[in-house]
Amino acid sequence: MSVVEYERRGAVAVVTMNRPEYRNAQNSAMTYALDEAFTRAVDDDEVAVIVLAGAGDHFSAGHDIGSPGRDVDISFERKAVMWWDHVGRPGGDQRYAREMEVYLGMCRRWREIPKPTIAMVQGACVAGGLMLAWVCDLIVAAEDAFFADPVVRMGIPGVEYFAHPWVLGPRAAKEVLFTGDRFSAQRAYEWGMVSRVVDRDSLADETFQLAERIGKMPQFGLALAKRAVNQSEDLMGMRAGMDSVFGLHHFAHAHNAEVGTDALAGMDARAMKKAQG
Ligand code: ZN
Repeated sequence: MSVVEYERRGAVAVVTMNRPEYRNAQNSAMTYALDEAFTRAVDDDEVAVIVLAGAGDHFSAGHDIGSPGRDVDISFERKAVMWWDHVGRPGGDQRYAREMEVYLGMCRRWREIPKPTIAMVQGACVAGGLMLAWVCDLIVAAEDAFFADPVVRMGIPGVEYFAHPWVLGPRAAKEVLFTGDRFSAQRAYEWGMVSRVVDRDSLADETFQLAERIGKMPQFGLALAKRAVNQSEDLMGMRAGMDSVFGLHHFAHAHNAEVGTDALAGMDARAMKKAQG
């Protein structure tokens, strides 16, 4: 069974994360499989729009910090940044190399996909899962979708792709980070993070209808429109902000490793779930 499924429905490519038994926790195998699927969709002239989905009851529980398929010590062919392999490197050197490639770098690469992307979100969309939804241009959420970035519990100021102030607004970003609480699809909609909220039963229909409508627009026009908004967002400081916060993020990892036993302040998936309540 592949960790990412690829399917084409007319002009829409559907890229589905497929580790439902782990709520689609994202390991590196999934990261590179996603990259391959996105590349395939970009290269296929018949594909106008890409939908990113999660198999099962949840979109994504975030980065894999505890499943049997956790693969942080395995090398993959790097795609996102020009840097050395993280495997075998000590301390912060290892973490910085790895996270720059598989988290920040990959998310930025996917944000630049020249075709419109829509995240189709049900159930959990937590921490690293937020990053995957945020790199998409639009987010269609089912009423049962919930979102959270609880990593301040690890002493870390937000996930690696630090889009929080730009996609939530500064005040909501602070509330989300300070509390670590889940927020609903409706709340996300009110904050402007989500494009629309629909019944769980009609999530797929509504998402594909939207994708098909967008897919009728001229392809190059869509690509330029996407660039226009992305460039404007970067001029609002998003790219530079993320670069500076990535330093704080790694300072937090290093601090955790220095005063404790690991870079995640001893929090594994189970401890994080327990703390969430
Ligand atoms: Zn990190």
